[in-house]
Amino acid sequence: MSVSIPDDKIAEIKGACNIVHLISEYVPLKKYGVNYRGLCPFHAENEPSFTVSEAKQIFHCFGCNTGGNAFTFLMKFEHLAFPEAVKKVAQKYGIALPSREPTPREKQIAGEKDGLFALNELAASYYSALLNAGEGKTARAYLAERRMTPETIRSFKLGYASPAWDGLLLHLKAKRASLEAAHRLGLIKRGKNNGWYDGFRNRIIFPIADYNGRIIGFSSRALEQDGAKYINSSDSLIYKKSASLFGLNTALPSIRKEDMAVLVEGNFDLVSLHQHGITNAVATLGTALTDSHIKLLKRFTGSIVIAFDSDDAGRKAAMKSLPLFLQNGISPRMLELPAGADPDSFIHREKEAAFRGLIEKSLPLVQCFITRALKHRNPANVGGTLAAIRETVPVLSLLKDDTERNLYIQRVSQDLNVPEQIIRAELAASGRPAPHAAGPAAGMPVGRNRAEELLLQVMLLHPDLIPRVREAQILQDLKEPELKRIALCLVELFDARRPMEADSLMNGVQDGDLKNIISGLIMKGECITDPLKALTGSIQKLKTAQIEREIKLVNNQIREAEAGNDVSAIQHFLTCKQQLLEQKKACAADRASVLLP
Ligand SMILES: [Zn+2]
Repeated sequence: MSVSIPDDKIAEIKGACNIVHLISEYVPLKKYGVNYRGLCPFHAENEPSFTVSEAKQIFHCFGCNTGGNAFTFLMKFEHLAFPEAVKKVAQKYGIALPSREPTPREKQIAGEKDGLFALNELAASYYSALLNAGEGKTARAYLAERRMTPETIRSFKLGYASPAWDGLLLHLKAKRASLEAAHRLGLIKRGKNNGWYDGFRNRIIFPIADYNGRIIGFSSRALEQDGAKYINSSDSLIYKKSASLFGLNTALPSIRKEDMAVLVEGNFDLVSLHQHGITNAVATLGTALTDSHIKLLKRFTGSIVIAFDSDDAGRKAAMKSLPLFLQNGISPRMLELPAGADPDSFIHREKEAAFRGLIEKSLPLVQCFITRALKHRNPANVGGTLAAIRETVPVLSLLKDDTERNLYIQRVSQDLNVPEQIIRAELAASGRPAPHAAGPAAGMPVGRNRAEELLLQVMLLHPDLIPRVREAQILQDLKEPELKRIALCLVELFDARRPMEADSLMNGVQDGDLKNIISGLIMKGECITDPLKALTGSIQKLKTAQIEREIKLVNNQIREAEAGNDVSAIQHFLTCKQQLLEQKKACAADRASVLLP
């Protein structure tokens, strides 16, 4: 249910909340100077670089550059949307929110969903009880043969569906459950004479939960040879096979902690990995990986290791998934299992440390893809070379990081013994030309320009000095695009008389990357003792740089005029240069006077 919360209510909730108390519920914090520190929940670390400021009501991690206010923390930690995070804080502090009555349609759908979850829960308990009853003997023997421990069977709530046609059906009838609803979930099916029969028979049952732990559907494996080996629930109001991952709810804490997920294909691959300590594994449910799977996983981590079977089918499936990953801005790695192995057989034989070794050694899937494409084509003839270029270019065109793309272009060029120009031309034809020089990688941390950083820190921590920044007319010339965006945004907020406190800014800025930069600037800027001096110093430095750039331009113009023997132009540009040099001198003098005590 979406409710828009009025600004004054948000301010009230923010006012009631203390970020140190809130984050302490999730991360142990220790006082360190004026701030608090703890181990970052968003990346793996041994030394605390996650810092919380009680005075500013914001947090920032100096390890992974994540930052924001109390709402941002909940949004990131619990994967909530902004209104949900606000609602959660309001609940914690007992603040009532104005709520809109859900429409009758919304009420109906919510009620229907609750009913379906309850029904799945009922079925899961039935299957689980059956596995532990006398009838479950064969199923228990099968699971023992697959080396499943009782603990694993319990934690994954594995179950057993008997060969009977009406086992679950009779149970549902006895519990007075809605058979129509059970039919919509695929638990029972419609027979010839309008009767019902069980959808899962003589099978091991794997309940599938969403990341909140609610059972959305079932996957099942046949205990006998006849029929399909795996059958999954049909899609319903609460389950979509192409957008669900088996094991996600169990894996979530480890995925968060390790900031990495291992992606496998089979149910037993997943359960066995978890049993042996690889608890950040998730599995697709018998379908090829989809865009929805990647988007779901991306909510929790950007680091994914693919561990498919080592056979040809497994490798092909991995290669096929590459464009989907790249389109979502993720460059996955591929784990190489020994020939003939799958994760299930490997982990039982070689155990956890060996599997972790393979994760360590895993290579970027892009690299595997290109190596494979080059190996499979015969570069000795033009046709083979052309085929290799045509196969690799679509993948190269999806790489967002220019440096990475340039490196692979170089690699393909060397291996095929063709000039880079040919590959670049093919890329250009594909609609995404490659830059010639390696430019800065996307997402590179800003802050290489110390004068601009200092300027921003003063603007953030001492907004009363913003009018002076405006007077200096330097913002349009800032070199770091993110810093420039933040600076212009600050001036705008200041002019509109919006609140300028650190945690209010976090609500005003939509872009998550900018939030991270702002929190970092504020935390690092707290040691500025004389803001006016710092501001004047950085303005002078930026102005000087501005003048120097203009001098460079004039120098070029003078050279051109000299080449053309244009005496009057030479005279004109020399005068310009003289004026610029004087301005530069005046600037340096101003600066010196500021820096003197
Ligand atoms: Zn961090």
